[in-house]
Amino acid sequence: MVGYMYDPKQVEHDTSEHIEVSQRAIAIDEMAQANFNLYQIPVREEGTKDELEMVHDKSYIDWVESGYENGVRMIISSDTILSKGSYEVAKRAALSTKNAIEFFKNGGKRAFLNLRPPGHHAEIITGQGFCIFNNIAMMARYAQQAGYKKVLIIDFDVHHGNGTQDIFYRDNTVFYFSTHERDNYPYFSGSEDEIGEGEGRGYNENLPYHRGITDDEFVALYDNLPDDFSPDIVLVSAGYDLMVSEAISSTKITSKGLERMIRKILEKYQALPIAFVLEGGYNIPSLVESVKITLELFEASDDS
Ligand SMILES: [Zn+2]
Repeated sequence: MVGYMYDPKQVEHDTSEHIEVSQRAIAIDEMAQANFNLYQIPVREEGTKDELEMVHDKSYIDWVESGYENGVRMIISSDTILSKGSYEVAKRAALSTKNAIEFFKNGGKRAFLNLRPPGHHAEIITGQGFCIFNNIAMMARYAQQAGYKKVLIIDFDVHHGNGTQDIFYRDNTVFYFSTHERDNYPYFSGSEDEIGEGEGRGYNENLPYHRGITDDEFVALYDNLPDDFSPDIVLVSAGYDLMVSEAISSTKITSKGLERMIRKILEKYQALPIAFVLEGGYNIPSLVESVKITLELFEASDDS
């Protein structure tokens, strides 16, 4: 059975008029519950903020925790909002990824984590780009604690996951593979020559693409998934803002292209546990349709 996680408390990360709103996750949840028979992976109620130090600097975590009461309303710039409930919601999202690893340990093979705020722009010392804590990076560390030593992170969000790259740049146990639109946010990272440093050299792969990329061109990029890194688990930063219908990008990627790309990932790593963790996707009808395609492909490839 396909695993699925949603936290109703996510609405307390209140971003008001922002494009990254709670309605995104609510709409996905309504579609998922109406159309699929999913194993509901529980949100993690226990767990402490120290766990975030697997990924983030303590001073940053403390700053976010006390931020709202100290009058902070945004992180770095107006794009990352800090409401009264934001710290708790972001912490629960990051810490709850551990329960999805538990689901895999108990035999599950496919899981979709409908979490917000997203995470892949959150670096060691700061959040940004709608992201507060790096959910997928936390999940990678929980995976390693549970014995999945080598972790492949695939990031298909239209934006480069500068945060995830930052966290694992000197690490040869986590391979970061990203496709994203060149000259889009966050602008300062994501080029082909960022390949990792020290022990991590060769374990970071960026494939930036041009504006107006087509389905065929996009799907072909996934021929470059690493052949010389044998992961124990595959975690996917699922950013559905790569679709043609999104105002935030300029691709020509359709549902067909999305489906072919996901199929490639599922076929290549068929035998492994695979989790998709929600990142971007702001055109809500397009987002819901894209997640529906994902869950259909999960059901078809799930032999657990
Ligand atoms: Zn994005």
